[in-house]
Amino acid sequence: MRRLILVLGDQLDARSAAFDGFDPAQDAVWMAEIAEESTKVWSSKPRIAVFLAAMRHFREALRERGWQVDYHELGTHPNFTAALAASVQALQPRELVMVEAGEWAIQRAFEDAAIPLGLPLEVREDRHFFCSRANFARHASGRKQLRMEFFYRDMRRRTGVLMEGDQPVGGQWNYDADNRESFGRHGPGLLPAPRRFEPDALTRGVLADVKRRFHDHPGDLAAFDWPVTAPQAREALEDFIAHRLADFGRYQDALWEGEPWLYHSRLSAAMNLKLLDPREVVAAAEQAWREGRAPLAAAEGFIRQILGWREYVRGIYWRFMPEYVERNALAATAPLPAFYWTGDTEWACLRDALGQTLRLGYAHHIQRLMVTGLFGLLLGVDPRRMHEWYLAVYVDAVEWVELPNTLGMSQYADGGVMASKPYVASGKYLQRMGNHCAQCRCDPGQSTGPRACPFTTLYWDFLLRHEPALRGNPRMTMQLRNLSRLDTDKRAAIRGQADLLRDRLASSPP
Ligand SMILES: Cc1cc2nc3c(=O)[nH]c(=O)nc-3n(C[C@H](O)[C@H](O)[C@H](O)COP(=O)(O)OP(=O)(O)OC[C@H]3O[C@@H](n4cnc5c(N)ncnc54)[C@H](O)[C@@H]3O)c2cc1C
Repeated sequence: MRRLILVLGDQLDARSAAFDGFDPAQDAVWMAEIAEESTKVWSSKPRIAVFLAAMRHFREALRERGWQVDYHELGTHPNFTAALAASVQALQPRELVMVEAGEWAIQRAFEDAAIPLGLPLEVREDRHFFCSRANFARHASGRKQLRMEFFYRDMRRRTGVLMEGDQPVGGQWNYDADNRESFGRHGPGLLPAPRRFEPDALTRGVLADVKRRFHDHPGDLAAFDWPVTAPQAREALEDFIAHRLADFGRYQDALWEGEPWLYHSRLSAAMNLKLLDPREVVAAAEQAWREGRAPLAAAEGFIRQILGWREYVRGIYWRFMPEYVERNALAATAPLPAFYWTGDTEWACLRDALGQTLRLGYAHHIQRLMVTGLFGLLLGVDPRRMHEWYLAVYVDAVEWVELPNTLGMSQYADGGVMASKPYVASGKYLQRMGNHCAQCRCDPGQSTGPRACPFTTLYWDFLLRHEPALRGNPRMTMQLRNLSRLDTDKRAAIRGQADLLRDRLASSPP
């Protein structure tokens, strides 16, 4: 055999660089399901199932082309190294080829595994992304500070997306001033239900395997309906563009009890597994605007998430790993509250976000950033524990995208690489953006006393604890000015209540 092409669970793209020059007469594909990948963080059942179902469907699609796929199902080998060694011994390839992995440690593991096998390993650039790692490094070099907005403008110029010559269409780069509404008192009304993908026989087999092998893992599979093939992913994209894009921007930051999807696309897992090309997604959104099917603010807001944020966080990951994962700029050490794994809490917004996370493997961005993430940040949870939780529970969780979002954007543990200030807010933000406070026994206006909202208590406590470090940050001026209005007694009461809360949550059983 000439080449063995290594394909990882998040590289399921038959047009990827790994297959350049593939010759079925002398090459084969290698894929492996490794249980350790689901246990190194305590992965939720929906997350494991999405990966395995998509991998098995991809295997079948390649075999239908007549390609040889050496596929190791769950339980055959303890790790990638052993699975690869077995294949090399059986197939005797002369070289190994792969595309850059989505996780630093996995890339290292393959490079290390190739050495004792005595085989060259060719690592090819991942063409899935608009911005290569080298191009991001060029963008970053010489800059004192990296900011998404400047990177995004560069990407718009480089790709010509939403551009007229060298100017942004409509004259502005960013239309967020038109976005970010809440649903108001009457709620979202009738929401367009996203396209569901009923599990086929192959997926049902995966669900049964996951239930059997990972029965004690968090989450459940009853509602599993994710796209797990490239054609399904394309259908999911079409469904989003036709029914939800037009209101995406407007309600991007809104929350509503019992409504997990709102106007979000649900495309992150399909894109991260490479079932869906982000160029196709961006082009479809731009076309919808050009044809008058979506306002510019919605199309631009959506495109920014993909052409901007998604590419930017990948750049940050590869630029700062492996030390990035160790960062803990705010010296946070509290344990993760046990209810993150069960959803069993009296606080309505957390209960809703955690419940759907475990049930569906999904929460939208504002739930991740301003509910579960914010609570962890304010409480002072060790960012490593937060990272492990986010990597475990979401169907779209792959380290290159999860880690900078969690450690950087959400927990400010990177000291300001990702975000120019910690995203902190009191319960009043949550009250403004959704309806959970109306169903909660806590009052977001109160920071102390029996009805105090924990977000509000912990918000002021956070500012008190970190005031000296935050004082030099001009973007924190207003929040610190409000803090300065609290008298000594109020400060002491807030700190006392926050300490009690922290003790209570730390001592609840894991
Ligand atoms: C703490 C935290 C952890 C996160 N972990 C992940 C993760 O593991 N995997 C993941 O794909 N996203 C992650 N995100 C980003 C974002 O929340 C999800 O991409 C989004 O919620 C997925 O749902 P959707 O497809 O409906 O997205 P939409 O709201 O419809 O957005 C469209 C697309 O934009 C991209 N996108 C949006 N925001 C971001 C962002 N901040 N970073 C990167 N891409 C973005 C996604 O590909 C998404 O599919 C995280 C955010 C936070 C705050």
